[in-house]
Amino acid sequence: MNYKADQKGYYGVFGGAYIPEMLYPNVEELRQNYLKIMAEPSFQKEFQELLKDYVGRPSPLYFAKRLSEKYTTKIYLKREDLNHTGAHKINNTIGQILMAKRLGKSRIIAETGAGQHGVATATVCALMGLECIVYMGEIDIARQAPNVARMKMLGATVVPALSGSRTLKDATNEAIRDWINNPVDTYYIIGSVVGPHPYPDMVARFQAIISEEIKWQLKEKEGRENPDVIIACVGGGSNAAGAYYHYLNNDEVQLIAVEAAGLGIDSGESAATSVLGKEGIIHGSKTLLMQTEDGQITEPYSISAGLDYPGVGPLHAHLHATKRAEFVSVTDAEAMKAGLELCELEGIIPAIESAHALAVFEKQTFKPNEVIVLNLSGRGDKDLNTYIDYFKL
Ligand SMILES: *Cc1c(COP(=O)(O)O)cnc(C)c1O
Repeated sequence: MNYKADQKGYYGVFGGAYIPEMLYPNVEELRQNYLKIMAEPSFQKEFQELLKDYVGRPSPLYFAKRLSEKYTTKIYLKREDLNHTGAHKINNTIGQILMAKRLGKSRIIAETGAGQHGVATATVCALMGLECIVYMGEIDIARQAPNVARMKMLGATVVPALSGSRTLKDATNEAIRDWINNPVDTYYIIGSVVGPHPYPDMVARFQAIISEEIKWQLKEKEGRENPDVIIACVGGGSNAAGAYYHYLNNDEVQLIAVEAAGLGIDSGESAATSVLGKEGIIHGSKTLLMQTEDGQITEPYSISAGLDYPGVGPLHAHLHATKRAEFVSVTDAEAMKAGLELCELEGIIPAIESAHALAVFEKQTFKPNEVIVLNLSGRGDKDLNTYIDYFKL
C-alpha cells in the first residue's frame, strides 16, 4: 500500500483538485513548479537555515519521565510547542513563503479560523517584507482578539468575512475569491494538509521535518529510528502528517490519529470527522467531511479552535479508509483533564489541540517496553483564557 500522493494528488480515492475553472491557472502554476523548486539546493539551504535560526529547530525529543511512570510505558514528547510562534504551523508558512518568492509573487493571502495560521503567515510576511492580507470570519475576529492584534502588529491587514456563518469556511471562500481576482501577483498560503492538489502534498513535505528529526533523535536515545507508536491530534491533519511522514510506508510503526469529539460524538456538537463524516468535496479536495443528508457542510464544534474543522485532509481520509492509522475521538472534558495532567506531571502547559492527543493514555494501555512518540503540536499560552474559564482558575 502506498500512502504518498500520486501525480494527480490522490491518496487512494481521496484528494485531487476540484476547483472552479477560474482558479485553474493559479493552482496549475504551483503544481507544475512545487517539486522542482523544493528540490533546488538554494531553496533547501534557505529553508533549513530559517528552520534552524528563526524557528529554533530541531525541536527537542523529550523523554517524559513522570508521565511515562504514570502510564507504565515509555513516552517521548516531540516539542513543536517550543517553535517560534508556539506551534508546528510555522514550518509550513516558512516553506510556502519561500515558494511564493521563487514564483515571483509579491502579495500573500491566507484564511484563518482561530488566528493561529494567520499569525504564522503574518510572521513570515514580515520576515520577507511581503504584503499580507488575512481573511477571517467576523465572528472569529470578535472571539480571537489577541491573535487579531498580533497579526496587525506584524503588519498584516485583517479582512472580515461577512457572509454565511462568518467563520472559517466563509473566510476561505473570500480568500479564494481574492485569488481568482489577483492571479498574477498573489500567492495563497493554506494552513494545513487540505485544499486542492498540490497543497496537501506540499504542506506534508514541509511538515515532514518533524519525523525526519524524530528518526535521528530516537536513534540517539533508544538506538533505533522507529518508535512503536506515534500519536498526534488531527484538525486538518498537518502536524500528524509531519509526524507520520517518514513512517507512512513502515507498517511496524503504529499510527494513532486523535480527533475532537467535542461534547460527545452523538451530541451534535463535535468535530469527529472520521466517525461522522462522509465522502464529499471541501476546499477543492475529495475527502471525508461532516455534512447534512443533502450535502451541506455541518458546523463543527470543539473546545479547541484548531480542531474545529468539518473535514480532514485527503491523506487522513485514506489512512482511515485503509486502517493504516487508528482514529480515536476525545471529548472536551477528556482533553482538558489530560492538559492539566501534563502541567502537573511535566511542567508543560500544552495547547488544547495537543491535550487531545495526550488523552489517549487514559483510553488505551501500552506495554512497559513500548516506545511512544507523541507530537506536542503547540503550547498553551494562546489557550489560557479557555483553561481559566474551564477550571475556574
Ligand atoms: C492548528 C493547530 C492544530 C491543528 O492543525 P493540523 O493541521 O491538524 O495540525 C493542532 N495543534 C495546534 C497547536 C495548532 O495550532
